Parts: sequence; structure tokens; C-alpha cells
Amino acid sequence: MTTFADRGMAGGLDADERVIVETAADFAAKRLAPFALTWDAEDHFPVAELREAAQLGMGAIYCSEDVGGSGLRRLDGVRIFEQLAYADPAVAAFLSIHNMCTWMVDRYGTEEQRAQWVPRLASMETIASYCLTEPGAGSDAAALATRAERVGDEYVLTGVKQFISGAGTSDLYVIMARTGDAGPKGISTFLVENGSPGLSFGAQEHKMGWHAQPTAQVILDEVRVPASALLGATEGIGFGIAMNGLNGGRLNIAASSLGGAQAAFDKAASYVASRKAFGQNLIDESTIRFTLADMATSLQTSRLMLWHAASALDAGTADKVEQCAMAKRYVTDACFTVADQALQLHGGYGYLNEYGIEKIVRDLRVHRILEGTNEIMRVVLGRSIASRFAGK
Ligand SMILES: Cc1cc2nc3c(=O)[nH]c(=O)nc-3n(C[C@H](O)[C@H](O)[C@H](O)COP(=O)(O)OP(=O)(O)OC[C@H]3O[C@@H](n4cnc5c(N)ncnc54)[C@H](O)[C@@H]3O)c2cc1C
Repeated sequence: MTTFADRGMAGGLDADERVIVETAADFAAKRLAPFALTWDAEDHFPVAELREAAQLGMGAIYCSEDVGGSGLRRLDGVRIFEQLAYADPAVAAFLSIHNMCTWMVDRYGTEEQRAQWVPRLASMETIASYCLTEPGAGSDAAALATRAERVGDEYVLTGVKQFISGAGTSDLYVIMARTGDAGPKGISTFLVENGSPGLSFGAQEHKMGWHAQPTAQVILDEVRVPASALLGATEGIGFGIAMNGLNGGRLNIAASSLGGAQAAFDKAASYVASRKAFGQNLIDESTIRFTLADMATSLQTSRLMLWHAASALDAGTADKVEQCAMAKRYVTDACFTVADQALQLHGGYGYLNEYGIEKIVRDLRVHRILEGTNEIMRVVLGRSIASRFAGK
């Protein structure tokens, strides 16, 4: 296996940044990579290893240090997720979702909520799931129908959340529910603990990829939570919280595509270097070199776009939403293509499970669908372009 220094990243890092990336790369190589194929085959969710990652500061990467967060930047985050995904994109992607939830609590929670939850989320003693999608509201998330009615000192939540990563295993569910009228301004965010009466889960979904993390419905049947479970103690701000969480989530999912695609590329380059056909090694065929050159260019373009968008999010630039959408769209598409090309370069062997390429292709496919489909990323960008050039 190559080290991260061979993978186009080393030249741009200072000494502190190198330590952060090396820590993630070392953990991924030792604690994820050797088991990734088994976890995939057995549908095993590696909670113990996730908690080990948290001990290294990866449970609350860009959260405040006063409540146990690591206090790092989004830029550090995307570099960490690239390294974790080099070993296992499915595990990296789940950790990305947990980090998104943790940041939402740290950023928007009251002091009491931050103190109660962030230290436990940082250690992953408490594992979190993000619950926005519903059977009737996916891309059009603001149309969600789950209701939260205020009754005395409590809220009563009823509805169904669809495709929830971690459902059944997670300890805390960050749930977007309607407290007001139709549309985004009627939505609030709640912190609902596993074990709450009325909270249950659907059957585990059988998926193309992401076998190392569970996906199921979260079902709320008159779940009563104290009023203190309302994130930020304010109704009507939940959609904004959910969308702001997704800015960083989109980058980290894209970084998970980049790490997976880089692993696929390294496997393919190494494979064609020694695979013989027509009296020579495949890598001596110029069209194969051209394919590798294009793949390497896509990887580096993806990396630079991600770093740029993460820095925009760190700096809070006016175009941060567009930068995140553009990077998510481009990187998840380009890296899926790289992984598929890597499979093709392996010939029939790429289709076999033991080479580890087909798992990467399966895992990366969903990154083009979730946290806003790549069509919705184009909707976000198109809206911004139309507003600049047509005043709409
Ligand atoms: C494995 C997995 C894990 C997931 N984990 C989570 C999770 O943890 N939490 C969570 O909340 N959600 C999660 N999701 C849900 C995911 O975010 C949604 O599937 C996604 O947002 C798309 O919603 P949908 O499936 O309802 O598709 P739809 O919204 O029905 O879209 C169907 C198709 O139409 C396209 N489309 C829709 N609107 C437009 C438009 N205006 N212009 C052009 N094209 C459009 C879409 O791009 C898509 O191709 C997960 C999904 C999967 C598969």
C-alpha cells in the first residue's frame, strides 16, 4: 500500500497538517483496511473501531475544544476523510455523518445542549444519526411531514424518516420535524434519544454498497421529548440548521469518494504494472498510460476543489454554499468514474470481490445520490448563476 505522501497530498502540507493526516492514514491502514472486505461481506458495522477513531479526535473534528471537540478546520476534515476512505469508504462516510450531527449540536445548541451532548459525541460513547429524508420528501426536503406538536413542557413527534444511516444502532437521532406551517420556516430540529417510547426502526435495507453501515427507517409514533430537546431552543430554524450541516457533510462525502477512488487507482496502476498481455506489461501500452494519466488528473482536480471548498467554508465566504455544492457534484462524479476505470483496468479480476475494486465502485455510487443528489447540486448552482446573470 502506498503512503499518503505518494498520493498527491504531501507537497501542500505543513508539519502540523502532516501529523493530522498521518494519524488518520496510520489508523486507517491498521484498523480499517485489513477488515474492510469482511465487514462488507458480513454487513458488519464496526462501532468499536469508530470509537477508536474518536479517541484520536475524529468524532468531533471541527467542533469546539471547550466541549471536547478537536477544534480543527474543515480543510483538515476533508484530508482526514480522504485517508479513512482510502481504507473503507463506507466507514469513513458514516463517520462523516456523525461529525455533521455533532457539529450541528455544537454550533446551534444551547450551552446546556452543547455541554450535555458534544463530549459524548466526541468520544462516540453517543453515536448520532441525521434524520431529514422522508418517504415523501427526499430532494424536496422542505416538504417534510413529520410533526412535532408542543404539549405543555413536551413535544410529541410523529412521522417516518427514510434511509437513515446508523438507524437502530445510533444513540441519538437529530430529527428535522414540522412545528409550524408548510415550507422551510415551519421546520425545527430535535435531539431524540434511542429508547424513547414510540421510537422504532424499520427493517435493515439491503443495499448495493455501504454494507459496513446500517440503513433503515426511523419511525416516530407519538414520541414525547422534553422541550429541552429542541435544538437551539428556537422553533423554525431547523431547515437552516439541516442545510448548514450539509455544506460540510457534502465535502466529507466527496472526500470519502476521493479516498476510495485513490485506493482504486493505486490498485489499478500496480496491477497493470505487472499484468502481461501481447508480450508486454499492460502499463507499457500507451492507451493504458493515457487512462492512468486521466485518472490521476481527476484525482488531483478533485483534491484541489475539495481543499478550496473546505477553505471557503472555514472562511465563511459568501459563495461557500455554491463551492460545497460544486465540489460535491464534481468530486463524487469524477471519483466514481475513476473507480470504474480502475475496475476496467483489472479486466475480469476487477469484478471479483477479493480484489477490493468492486466494493469501492459499489460504495462510491451512493455518494452521487445522498446529502443532496448531484442533480440538486446543479439546482443550487443554477439558482445562483441565474440570480447573478438574470436577477432571478
Ligand atoms: C444508503 C443511503 C443512506 C442515506 N442516508 C441518509 C441519512 O442518514 N439521512 C437522511 O436524511 N437521508 C439519507 N439518505 C437519503 C438521501 O439523501 C436521499 O435518497 C436523496 O436526498 C434523494 O432523495 P430521494 O431518494 O427521495 O429521491 P428523489 O428526491 O425522489 O429524486 C429522484 C430523482 O429525481 C431527481 N430530482 C429531484 N428533484 C429534481 C429537480 N428539481 N431537478 C432535477 N432532478 C431532480 C433526483 O436527483 C433523483 O435523480 C440516504 C440514502 C441512501 C440511499
